[in-house]
Amino acid sequence: MTETTAIRQSFTTKTKTEIFYQVAMPQPNSHLFEVTLKVSNWQQEKLDLKMPVWTPGSYLVREYAKNVQDFVAENSSNRKPLSSQKTSKNHWQVDTKNCPNITVKYRVFANELTVRTNHLDATHGYFNGAALFFFIPGLEEQAIKIKIVPPQPDWQVITTLDALNNEENTFIAKDFDTLVDTPVEIGIHQLYEFKVLDKPHQLAIWGEGNADAKQIIADTQKIIEVEADLYGGLPYDKYLFLLHLSGSGYGGLEHKDSCSLNYPRFGFKNKDKYNRFMQLVAHEFFHLWNVKRIRPLALEKFDYERENYTTSHWFSEGTTSYYDILIPLRAKIYNRKTCLENFSKDLTKYLNIPGRNIQPLAESSFDAWIKLYRRDANSDNNQISYYLKGELVSLLLDLLIRAKHNNKRSLDDVMVRMWEEFGRKEIGFSPEQLQAVIESVAAEDLSDFFYKYIYTTAELPFDAYLEPFGLKLKATAQEEPVPNLGIKVQSENSQEVIKFVEANSPSAIAGIDPGDILLAINGFRVTSESLSDRLKDYQVGDTIRVTVFHQDELKTLSVRLEASQPSSYELVSIENASSTQQQNLSAWLG
Ligand SMILES: [Zn+2]
Repeated sequence: MTETTAIRQSFTTKTKTEIFYQVAMPQPNSHLFEVTLKVSNWQQEKLDLKMPVWTPGSYLVREYAKNVQDFVAENSSNRKPLSSQKTSKNHWQVDTKNCPNITVKYRVFANELTVRTNHLDATHGYFNGAALFFFIPGLEEQAIKIKIVPPQPDWQVITTLDALNNEENTFIAKDFDTLVDTPVEIGIHQLYEFKVLDKPHQLAIWGEGNADAKQIIADTQKIIEVEADLYGGLPYDKYLFLLHLSGSGYGGLEHKDSCSLNYPRFGFKNKDKYNRFMQLVAHEFFHLWNVKRIRPLALEKFDYERENYTTSHWFSEGTTSYYDILIPLRAKIYNRKTCLENFSKDLTKYLNIPGRNIQPLAESSFDAWIKLYRRDANSDNNQISYYLKGELVSLLLDLLIRAKHNNKRSLDDVMVRMWEEFGRKEIGFSPEQLQAVIESVAAEDLSDFFYKYIYTTAELPFDAYLEPFGLKLKATAQEEPVPNLGIKVQSENSQEVIKFVEANSPSAIAGIDPGDILLAINGFRVTSESLSDRLKDYQVGDTIRVTVFHQDELKTLSVRLEASQPSSYELVSIENASSTQQQNLSAWLG
């Protein structure tokens, strides 16, 4: 070894490893992103590259590595190939002995248009970092440079990653978490810019439809103002709303400085559908505090390789769902009547799901990975969504705090305290700490409340909590009661498919299963359309013969009809509500 090489080597050992990604898409119709990774100043004999198996905000192991193909590695200096091997489903290992500068090339198939996957076609490219990039274990905290190469000059790149001024379409992510938390949209989209509280905001809309951008921006501004007012300011420098218009897609994914929204392209003229869209905006925007910064302990530091378990999704998602009904009301996008109708719809949904008597809320949250995100025909029998029940528990908590403190305190104070104690500092909270904050705002020991409504399946006592606000829950029975069979049927390809069989219902007891094809009642053909009318010909307690194909075998089963349950529930005013009750309601819902 000569003196000069010795000096050079001691210099390089001190030089920081650099990570650079280039994302190209020369043939968009192939749905293949072409990714080049350059690692410079690498000093080890092996380079480990791991692809996340999930992305924060969407609690399902999606195995993003399944879309990786054509993986090759080479020495950047002389372009000689480097050997590599896979050591697990998401882990590639490159042999890098005496090779400080490595180039890795791979393609990622991207033809899934959802907010949490990648999509590339002739009109645009959209990607989530977790579904496109490897992390290098030990270097997760290191800054990553990214260059996007659009296929055509008229394709624009939009993202909240910090742009490098001197290099076109080149950005810096301060660490891997930021790369994952910052989706990128490339293509031809409508881009709108507006300011709220002096901070720049953008709305990018990809796709055609009947969205009125001017109206959306006006209402979004109001939502931003209401939420900023709740938390006391906006904790970001800039924010991007990325909206994909699609056939029937629906979804949102929250990020710290942006959100991705997917909505039916013609879902904006109808008032109800428009309100639902603004609720989606309010929901994802609320998450920039609640879940992106106010994080359960298990999500304080993401483990991208496996499930991250928490019992607190009911707060992160359920409380956010409660606020996505309240915020548009406070922003005057809809009125009190619409707000109460939204709660009524959710109460109806909740009280018609038998799984609420089986799965406690904390368990629903913990098992998100295998249950809420992996629903099947039996799901309503043995699970309850932490979005839905979490929203209704949040409703009860808000009413409890408001009633006790004459509306001088509310769940808003809980959110602010969670923000000040955990979110602002980005320290994860434990379930005990969350309970302690709620108890301190309520000024009350809530261990009994938490035990019953979070950890067991005790029925939620809506009326007791609604009463101080002059409201009650009214069950609406069908005008002509239909004896209950306990099944839901849907027409598919001219077949009447049984989609759901309620546990312990007459049909379940008789041996009818989801997937069975319904053919006849008492020997006469029946369809999903005629079923309800046909059942009206019988009385509760009658036994009827139901003919089905059960695993392709013709069967006729005896089913004893039972009484039907109320079909819907509604929040209604208590007659002769006192002025205190009326004042409470106004303090709560304006
Ligand atoms: Zn959410």
